[in-house]
Amino acid sequence: MAEEREQKVIVPVPEAFRAQALIKSRQQYEEMYKQSIEDPSTFWGNIASQFYWKRKWDTSKPICSYNFDIRQGPVSIEWFKGGYTNICYNALDKHVNEGRGDNVAILWEGNQVGQELRLTYRDVLKKTCQLANYLRKRGVKKGDRVCIYMPMVPELPIAMLACARIGAIHSVVFGGFSAESLAGRILDCKSDVLLSCSAVQRGNKALNLKAIVDEALMLCKQKENFTPGTCLIYDNANAVPRSKVNWVAGRDLWWQDEVRSCSTEAPVEWMEAEDPLFLLYTSGSTGKPKGVLHTVGGYMVYAATTFKYVFDYQPGDVFWCTADCGWITGHTYICYGPMLNGATQVVFEGVPMYPSPSRWWEIIEKYKVSIFYTAPTAIRSLEALGDKHVIKHDRSSLRLLGTVGEAINAKAWLWYHRVVGEGRCPIVDTWWQTETGGIMITPLPGAWCLKPGSATLPFFGVEPVVLDQEGKPQDGPCAGYLCIKGAWPGMARTLYGDHQRFAETYFTTWPGYYVTGDGCQREANGYITLTGRVDDVVNVSGHRISIGEVESALTSHKSCAETAAVAFDHDVKGQGIYAFVTLVEGVSPTEKLKDEIKAAVRREIGSFAVPDVIQWAPGLPKTRSGKIMRRILRKIAANQFNELGDTSSLADPAVVDQLVETKRGNT
Ligand code: ATP
Ligand code: MG
Repeated sequence: MAEEREQKVIVPVPEAFRAQALIKSRQQYEEMYKQSIEDPSTFWGNIASQFYWKRKWDTSKPICSYNFDIRQGPVSIEWFKGGYTNICYNALDKHVNEGRGDNVAILWEGNQVGQELRLTYRDVLKKTCQLANYLRKRGVKKGDRVCIYMPMVPELPIAMLACARIGAIHSVVFGGFSAESLAGRILDCKSDVLLSCSAVQRGNKALNLKAIVDEALMLCKQKENFTPGTCLIYDNANAVPRSKVNWVAGRDLWWQDEVRSCSTEAPVEWMEAEDPLFLLYTSGSTGKPKGVLHTVGGYMVYAATTFKYVFDYQPGDVFWCTADCGWITGHTYICYGPMLNGATQVVFEGVPMYPSPSRWWEIIEKYKVSIFYTAPTAIRSLEALGDKHVIKHDRSSLRLLGTVGEAINAKAWLWYHRVVGEGRCPIVDTWWQTETGGIMITPLPGAWCLKPGSATLPFFGVEPVVLDQEGKPQDGPCAGYLCIKGAWPGMARTLYGDHQRFAETYFTTWPGYYVTGDGCQREANGYITLTGRVDDVVNVSGHRISIGEVESALTSHKSCAETAAVAFDHDVKGQGIYAFVTLVEGVSPTEKLKDEIKAAVRREIGSFAVPDVIQWAPGLPKTRSGKIMRRILRKIAANQFNELGDTSSLADPAVVDQLVETKRGNT
């Protein structure tokens, strides 16, 4: 099985790309990697010195100290101890001071075609300072929590940067979350400030954010008698006129009215490297979201460095990451990574299918995007609509593509490569987590061959180990639990207010390692392929099969747009495989097709992995960041319809009802 997979296509780096890449060979990488592991003080010290530090870290000590072994004492991670800096200063002031103030920072594209805005680094700095001054005027100081619940208007990253400037800890809540989720997050960190927005237009739907804010604040009051002292609302007149917005006098304030008169210069709060920068809740694919906390110094250095090398960023590039700032991807690769590098980037408010399925490709053509970073779920849904929407737009500006969020199946990878990138652009399949702060396992696009579905090798400073069932590190080609040995600068330092849970979640199963919770396979050449969450493994008649692998095999059939497989109890085999399949547009669901799809799995993996049941699924339950919630599907497959659990963080809860109804009809 493993051999078969290893024989799958290898995609070499195009010579034209390699010639201009920052890292041109595996050997060059190996040398840098070796130093990053063996001498982190020199490696990271050299990189960190390129930033502005008010006071340099204590160079008489190692650059990093940590304890991952709970038997030795509490978990702790420290980088650049004794250093003072500010990430906002490095992301904005530094560029302006060094003569790059007129460079474009943000090319903002609104939901409606024709809505656009161009902000230079100087513009962003001024707006950030104004908001920083306003927050200070409201009494916000270093260490205070500020909750940000906004759509993808430029004021969202600006709000994050303003917090960072004054040392406030931002907690961004994705603008698609419900009042209940927002209230929970406000209460969890008792944020005294809420920055939000009147409404947003997403596709042809208007979402009244202010109504959700009102409800959330009511819940905060009911539950814990808590009301943030400042509730600042950005007037998004494009979506809804002011007169239509419900207003609580004495509590609510209009952003534009309040901030306009503030000075465009604001002093910087110099932060100790280990002071908190932000907290962010994980997407909740596997359970209750965790309030992950990142600190200033290490995160800054790691965000900037991964952006530079993974995306091979060079002056003149136009970068576009389609994530929302409400997720870690938007934090690291919209707000911080690109800005720390002085890059020009597209920020898009809308959705890929509006007003037509060509919107993304239209934007790429319009802004001459050269580096494009998105998620497999989006790639699959655009693939299912056919090539015609893509090829009608000029994509000759593209030179590099990336994916993040889930494993990408080979079929989607190859489509992305062949159709979107015209076979010319390498794809970086980047594996990382909210907790890791930045990309961890990834191709460096000029340095080695790609393999569809494989994240390949570790980034500088990252030492992956593959543990077996007993927690023993394995050598050579193997499969097992992906863990990380040693601390890297961008890693989370704790879960907000719950260091105990931090230690239990990531450091208890195998003391001495950061346990990622994901499974992987490693090949002889060191390439690492993620195989899904370690809980997502089925044991069919004694064969351990990863769900990710089954899904990839299912999706290899041309008619499958998207699939999700889960295990269910099986009288004979112990566990069986139950697959939910969404078909490509226009394909009819027939019994014959089910057989064909099963045959595809038999061919790709073997007959023991063939699903026992295939259920057609018009849609799959996904988190708001687009990840499939398999725990709900497991309950449906097991007919446990009353135990679906919390579905409030789902993007579209109606999908579940539909699947349940079909399942009930079948059983
Ligand atoms: P929770 O921890 O609350 O269950 P989550 O793990 O979905 O939520 P994130 O931190 O947003 O929250 O996602 C990280 C996870 O996403 C990884 O652990 C991995 O399972 C998956 N992932 C991300 N990128 C990739 C990738 N390139 N290949 C495979 N899996 C990926
Ligand atoms: Mg996780």
